[in-house]
Amino acid sequence: MTVISGVSSDKTKIVKFNKMMRKDSDSPSWKANISDNPLVEAFPESIDIHPGLQSSPIAPAQVQSTLSDLTFRKRTRRTVTYINVPYCETRCLYCLFYIKPYRNKEESKAYADTLIKELQLWADKPIQQNEPVHAVYFGGGTPTALEAADIERVIKAVRQYLPLANDCEITYEGRLSGFDAEKMEAAVQGGANRFSLGVQTFDTKVRQAVGRRSTKEQLVSQLSRLTRFNQAAVVIDLIYGFPFQTMGTWKEDLAISRELNLDGVDCYQLRVFERSPLFKYIANGKLPAGPNHELRALMFAEAVQSMREAGWSRLSISHWAANTRERNFYNYYAKTRSDCLAYGPGAGGNIDGYAYMMDRTPDTWKKAIEEGIKPVSMMLEPAPHWQLCRAVAEQLELNFLDPSRLAAEFTPQLLYVFEPLVENWTKAGLLSPIGSRYELTVAGQFWQGRMNQHLLNQIKSLL
Ligand code: SF4
Repeated sequence: MTVISGVSSDKTKIVKFNKMMRKDSDSPSWKANISDNPLVEAFPESIDIHPGLQSSPIAPAQVQSTLSDLTFRKRTRRTVTYINVPYCETRCLYCLFYIKPYRNKEESKAYADTLIKELQLWADKPIQQNEPVHAVYFGGGTPTALEAADIERVIKAVRQYLPLANDCEITYEGRLSGFDAEKMEAAVQGGANRFSLGVQTFDTKVRQAVGRRSTKEQLVSQLSRLTRFNQAAVVIDLIYGFPFQTMGTWKEDLAISRELNLDGVDCYQLRVFERSPLFKYIANGKLPAGPNHELRALMFAEAVQSMREAGWSRLSISHWAANTRERNFYNYYAKTRSDCLAYGPGAGGNIDGYAYMMDRTPDTWKKAIEEGIKPVSMMLEPAPHWQLCRAVAEQLELNFLDPSRLAAEFTPQLLYVFEPLVENWTKAGLLSPIGSRYELTVAGQFWQGRMNQHLLNQIKSLL
């Protein structure tokens, strides 16, 4: 048996722990197949469960008093802010975040007015005021659905009411359809310094099959216009796994992205959730299923290779930067031990390990804010070991695992609980030792979500 590199171990404890685990199963689910093709075969194909340890919900009657107590805490961690804009012009078939169709200018104005009031609610509270905010993300929904004047107003309000760090990243997310020159100008005037656009794929047939409207030509023209502002980073999301997508269309998506004057690209794998309309379309035969597991794995590897050849930098498992303007602050910090202040209907936040979700219904959110109440519909107690779980996620997000560093920061027992996994995953070609830590191979990067889940399951044994 090898020992996690760089650290001596007590052999008796390791043997005892491993015997204990073998008692549960001779083939535990964390065990990866040893094969020549770990990218495709390391684990059985199945949808990853969102990794995390179970936390207890706070009784609805206690939510407002708990929230009130939290507002008097001084933040001690790096902080991000998430602002949810709940409107979309149309619903994309694969989406679970859809809340409400966008109808008219009055709706946009009412949303902006209420959001500004919500930002004012905690304006004098330590939780909002005392320490800097490092990244703000307007997501949704479709923030670009708002009218130009309201886009400018809400971004300016964020700058007025939140203590933004001098280098704060302010991302405005949206769809290119309907994001005209006036709205782009308004977002820049407001102070956005990063645009994140959900392109998903440039292929017109694939896009329109899943409910996106713009054609490839329209997207390219809109993106070129946005990059010409040259005042903010422009990043796009690409997704692999849609019906009708092939390796050919995926390679073309990557090639177009590299040729546009973008600052960053995210590449995500599509998850078809049972609650999504796309699941029903495929089940009823209205649309074919997307690429199979093997092809999706190869598409991921193609993205890694394509960006490497183009000289783009890897900022996380799924994100690449073309230059140093792109920093990817929000996406990274939101997965780490940071606090997240949340505003707007349906937004999710996290303060000192307490996770909370804002009321999803725009009308009830608005009514509560007008009465001076922050409408939180659900709040969870900090999960046991939540900081350790986030620390594991932080490492994996940056393409490495360093059990020694985690053990030094949290508990030496981690060396014992992680060791069999690290040993097996190294043999299986998912991890590659470098000094005292392990880098994720391309196969390991593809299976990162599954590995995270197994590591967190091991942490449960410490409870
Ligand atoms: S625009 Fe975004 S939030 Fe709206 S339906 Fe499409 S994927 Fe979902």
